[in-house]
Amino acid sequence: MRRTHAVSTTNTIQHWINGAATPGASTRTAPVWNPATGAEQAAVLMAETSDVDTAVVAAATAFETWGESSLTQRTRVMFRLRELLVEHEDELAEIIAAEHGKVIDDARGEIVRGREIVEYACGIISHLKGGYSDQISTGIDSFDFRQPLGVVAGITPFNFPIMVPLWMHPIAIACGNTFVLKPSERDPSASNFVAELYKRAGLPDGVFNVVHGDKAAVDAVLDHPGIEAVSFVGSTPIAKYVHERATASGKRVQALGGAKNHAVVLPDADLEYAANHLTAAAFGSAGQRCMAISAAVAVGEAADALLPVLAEKAKAIKVGPGQDVGNDMGPVITAQARDRVTSYVASGVEQGAVAVVDGRDLKVEGHEDGFFVGPTLLDRVTKEMDVYTDEVFGPLLVVVRAADLDEAIELINANPYGNGTAIFTGDGESARRFQRGVHVGMIGVNVPIPVPMSHYSFGGWKDSLFGDNHIHGPEGVHFYTRAKVVTSRWPHVSRSVEAAFNFPTHG
Ligand code: NAD
Repeated sequence: MRRTHAVSTTNTIQHWINGAATPGASTRTAPVWNPATGAEQAAVLMAETSDVDTAVVAAATAFETWGESSLTQRTRVMFRLRELLVEHEDELAEIIAAEHGKVIDDARGEIVRGREIVEYACGIISHLKGGYSDQISTGIDSFDFRQPLGVVAGITPFNFPIMVPLWMHPIAIACGNTFVLKPSERDPSASNFVAELYKRAGLPDGVFNVVHGDKAAVDAVLDHPGIEAVSFVGSTPIAKYVHERATASGKRVQALGGAKNHAVVLPDADLEYAANHLTAAAFGSAGQRCMAISAAVAVGEAADALLPVLAEKAKAIKVGPGQDVGNDMGPVITAQARDRVTSYVASGVEQGAVAVVDGRDLKVEGHEDGFFVGPTLLDRVTKEMDVYTDEVFGPLLVVVRAADLDEAIELINANPYGNGTAIFTGDGESARRFQRGVHVGMIGVNVPIPVPMSHYSFGGWKDSLFGDNHIHGPEGVHFYTRAKVVTSRWPHVSRSVEAAFNFPTHG
């Protein structure tokens, strides 16, 4: 069955500022492609500095009242937003499939995982609870609480057009901040849709703003003196750049970068289970997930047993337009992304890897101009090959062989990325050694894509995260607020206490 989302070719996607679609000052646009057909389906406005400034002014004005709103008021908006996200799941999934290219059910998956962050934000009263110490010293009580920062910004990648922004803004807004989102210019429509849902949920105008654009808009965000904090998710070089530039302008920054996620398969693992999950984790969303498994580390005799099963499963994947129900995998995001993946496969083969399954020549009937690459499986990849050292971000799984678990852990720890990793094993002792030994932020034990649920925070180590706080969950609340501690004494209770010139030591 064919589903369609109507995007007219004359459609120009506008910014969303102060509660309304806004044309902005700049008339520069970028194309929004339909990755399944290769056709331009819309254009999106590219903001210049003045457009970002308009959004920040709207957000700063809205902060004057939103920052003073009660936790109950904020919670009510989040509950309504949650219901609207449920009600409009079909429409949102189609918008995502049309612009990103992923299959409808996968788009639904990201909506559900993003919605869970809104559910977490519905509990903001509990998450913002401070501590209180009665009589911490004689006649003295202490308590702490957290306050919002002001205007905060999010800059997000193309691969999860709704979930990654939802990692940020519900928590920031529930904490009392106002928000400027600069989503990916490649699939911008979901952000405007969410802005409309916020408005219907009762969020005051100016609290959530969307500014579309590229480097010019990002630089304007990073330099803007009215923005207190920046959350970024994207590739490592840009994450590093964002972290350096925004911290230099005095902002609090969390910048999540790219990944090379390894899955270790031990000989004692259930190989059928491991192969099923590895295949889905490597090729789901055409490998364009920051938590995709891109390197399988087959330990000892696991390699020869695993390879034929993996190959069979990779060949069985049904590739086609994301909007056609029944496909497992859609296209990659752009023609350049497709060419990048195929050139990495070519370089791997040139450098000595064995192409067990080669998706470079895949043609999808009726969609010959779409940005498709078939699932590709390379064996005997070594840690020197470009296909191993670089994040390829496509439907490519490389298999590296390791003699034992220690060698597998060493390999992972030598890699500059540290986002996610997984182990497939039936042995608790090996799993425990693995989870304690790897220098990686998110670890799965027989779970290939261990994206933490909303009550935990998401973040990698090493080149996968610049800054201190992980995103969403408790660290998200921490990131979007600053703490105060109050120490109080009421003189009529402790009249006898003398003022002292030495540093106060209380008993
Ligand atoms: P990207 O780095 O190209 O773009 C991310 C954002 O940065 C976009 O909003 C884009 O407009 C902006 N940008 C791009 N180039 C810029 C430049 N030169 N200067 C300033 N801003 C710029 O990433 P992408 O291709 O959209 O997304 C894929 C990448 O994101 C992959 O590397 C993936 O691993 C990573 N990612 C990481 C996580 C995580 O949680 N660690 C999650 C999702 C995606």
